[in-house]
Amino acid sequence: MRERLRLAVRGAVQGVGFRPFVFRLAEELAVSGWVRNSTLGVSIEVEGRRPVLDLFRARLATELPPRAVIHSLEASWLDAVGHPAFQILDSVRDGAISALVLPDLAMCDDCRREILDPANRRYRYPFTNCTNCGPRFSIIESLPYDRANTSMRHFTMCGACRREYHDPHDRRFHAQPNACPHCGPRLAAWDVTGKVIAEQDAALRAASAAIRAGAIVAVKGLGGFHLMCDAGNDAAIGHLRKRKHRDEKPFAVMCSDLAAVRRHCLVADAEARLLTSPESPIVLLARRADAADGLAPSVAPGNPNLGVMLPYTPLHELLVGDVGGPVVATSGNQSDEPICTDEQNAIERLATIADLFLVHDRPIARHVDDSIVRIVLDRELVLRRARGYAPLPIPIKQLSPPVLAVGAHLKNTVALASGTDIIVSQHIGDLESAEASAAFVKVLTDLPHLYEVAPVAVVADLHPDYRSTRHAASLGLPVSHVQHHVAHVAACMAENELDGPALGVAWDGTGYGLDGTVWGGEFFAVNGGSFTRVACLRPFQLPGGDRAIKEPRRSALGALHAIASEIAIVGPSLTAGAFSPSEQALLIDAMARGVNAPVTTSAGRLFDAVASIAGLRQRTSFEGQAAMDLEFAITPGVHDAYPFTLSEEGSQYALGSWQAPRLVIDWAPMVRAVLDDAAGEVAVGVIAARAHNTMVEMIVATALFFEQAAVVLSGGCFQNRYLIEQTVTRLRRAGFRPYWHQRIPTNDGGIALGQIAAYLRAKESLSCASPFPDASSRLTAPTLCFAAAGLTSPAS
Ligand SMILES: [Zn+2]
Ligand SMILES: [Zn+2]
Ligand SMILES: [Zn+2]
Repeated sequence: MRERLRLAVRGAVQGVGFRPFVFRLAEELAVSGWVRNSTLGVSIEVEGRRPVLDLFRARLATELPPRAVIHSLEASWLDAVGHPAFQILDSVRDGAISALVLPDLAMCDDCRREILDPANRRYRYPFTNCTNCGPRFSIIESLPYDRANTSMRHFTMCGACRREYHDPHDRRFHAQPNACPHCGPRLAAWDVTGKVIAEQDAALRAASAAIRAGAIVAVKGLGGFHLMCDAGNDAAIGHLRKRKHRDEKPFAVMCSDLAAVRRHCLVADAEARLLTSPESPIVLLARRADAADGLAPSVAPGNPNLGVMLPYTPLHELLVGDVGGPVVATSGNQSDEPICTDEQNAIERLATIADLFLVHDRPIARHVDDSIVRIVLDRELVLRRARGYAPLPIPIKQLSPPVLAVGAHLKNTVALASGTDIIVSQHIGDLESAEASAAFVKVLTDLPHLYEVAPVAVVADLHPDYRSTRHAASLGLPVSHVQHHVAHVAACMAENELDGPALGVAWDGTGYGLDGTVWGGEFFAVNGGSFTRVACLRPFQLPGGDRAIKEPRRSALGALHAIASEIAIVGPSLTAGAFSPSEQALLIDAMARGVNAPVTTSAGRLFDAVASIAGLRQRTSFEGQAAMDLEFAITPGVHDAYPFTLSEEGSQYALGSWQAPRLVIDWAPMVRAVLDDAAGEVAVGVIAARAHNTMVEMIVATALFFEQAAVVLSGGCFQNRYLIEQTVTRLRRAGFRPYWHQRIPTNDGGIALGQIAAYLRAKESLSCASPFPDASSRLTAPTLCFAAAGLTSPAS
């Protein structure tokens, strides 16, 4: 099968013979497509068979012309469109402003050599950079990208640095953050009261000695603070978990180099490339089975994967080098708060966690967390998009008016449409605390300011209680609301450049549904701007509402209660054992009376219910933990599935005001079988595999029912590697074309993009009747997406 590979190449790629090089490479490998210069760098599209395209991408990165340097290379896999030959196209001017904002780039090899060379004037200087690497997005205060507009304006270049900066033959020609030990930012080590203990290299050595001795050190890095400790020291990690109120959620680890990573994890070629790329994200890797590798078990308890990154700044390179082993590197924050960026603020917020502070005097203009990526089905799947990726835009086909999207409530990002680009902000986080809300407002203000556009409309989630939704109403702009799962599907279609028609599958935790119930297991028929909910999972109640997110036993009780008459008794299950008799009676009574027991169709909660009934977990310490347990428990090689039924008479399941779409997927036979298997002492790994296979077959069966070739998979559930790999494989085998996320998170980090994409689709499908922008569409803006989507607003 032919595929199309789109590459957005940024860096020193113009005027260095890059396009002729690409042309020759394409000719040699006999791939069709085009290359062209743009204000973004160079765009390339090549079509051919997958192995050839992989080779093209690899050779592109390694056989560059001598003076060309690639700063970032972002790939998207798209459907082939039948390019007849390979051409060099005329240059275009797209997104003139966005071109100038590059993400932060990991330290290059030349700079690494310099800081490790005792004869070099930048020996052990932690703020070394050049035009090929270093900070960008995290130091830009406004455009254009000149030193005076960055947080480096506080430092005056010395003569030697100035000579490099003005020499066209120097690697530091116009390197805006250029600096050296004489003129650049300086390090200091502080105690918890903010008193200076050591400076410059002595500070670095004090920090590494502290880590080796078992202390927790708060390190001011590129886009914010990390909390670091020795990844081999169980006691130190225990302190970190206790002080940060983070019980079991896995920590990421920073290793000194690729060889060190290979001691702990299995690293495929694509993963090695990602680890050493300029983006330098945290990569989720499989732990080695024989993991007697010196890592403390408490780094990622019970988890077969490990999030690993390599040092991406000289500061981290030197620090990890001095420590001499891997360090835990987790965001410098209190649990669920945004990452700290300012040292005074860090002292206030982190003094109860860290024993020592390693800080510097270069201000961080905006927070940027570490990105998290895993390789799934031979492609990148970005789970958290921040450093190295933000603010690279997602291209769209049509010209968009300036529209702002405020995103979801958890894993929040915001987005801005400008011209033919949608710029998705860096990861902001869960909007639970006052600090997080402040960070959200800051980014929401920052993005239009940086790109110098004035938004004419704002798009928000339908959930009336999301902080983001409420804030949207305060902006004084027309507000449109897009249903959460519509946004998920629209985001996935946008990044796959898919017009439709398509069957959209949104399997998620929870989101506010158009009928006021809690959605999360939805299927949409997508046609132009219209999203019609055509199928969903059978609804059940969540006793205690949101508390069910932290207690899988509540989801299980809800599911069992929904089918209680069919199974006669909720009683002798592992779930029941997780409640006291009075607790259970109280919750069942509340469900019967419909008190604080909202109705849901959530696939995420159904996974939780199965995890509870199988006895895996009754309470969680972080979101999605039960589903992860269920995934990790899977016994490989189990291919059978439990029964389930599709029903076209959904109304029989009606609960309260719930309105059924055309098709309802009844999971009751699966839950009954899980109860039997759990009682019959079938191994939990077999139950986990069968349950996953069943969920996969539910999607395949629904796709077969609607006979729509393109099937779009989005929502938090598809972070589950087994689920997405099996679903894609089974759909393909059944003759469908599945699409899933690549550059944009499949979780709620993708909602802001989807909000804009759904908004633009609705606009376009209305455009015959009401061209945009005009006064009448402004007046109808609040209900626009519902009207266009064939849906109704809850207010109407
Ligand atoms: Zn460099
Ligand atoms: Zn200097
Ligand atoms: Zn979601």
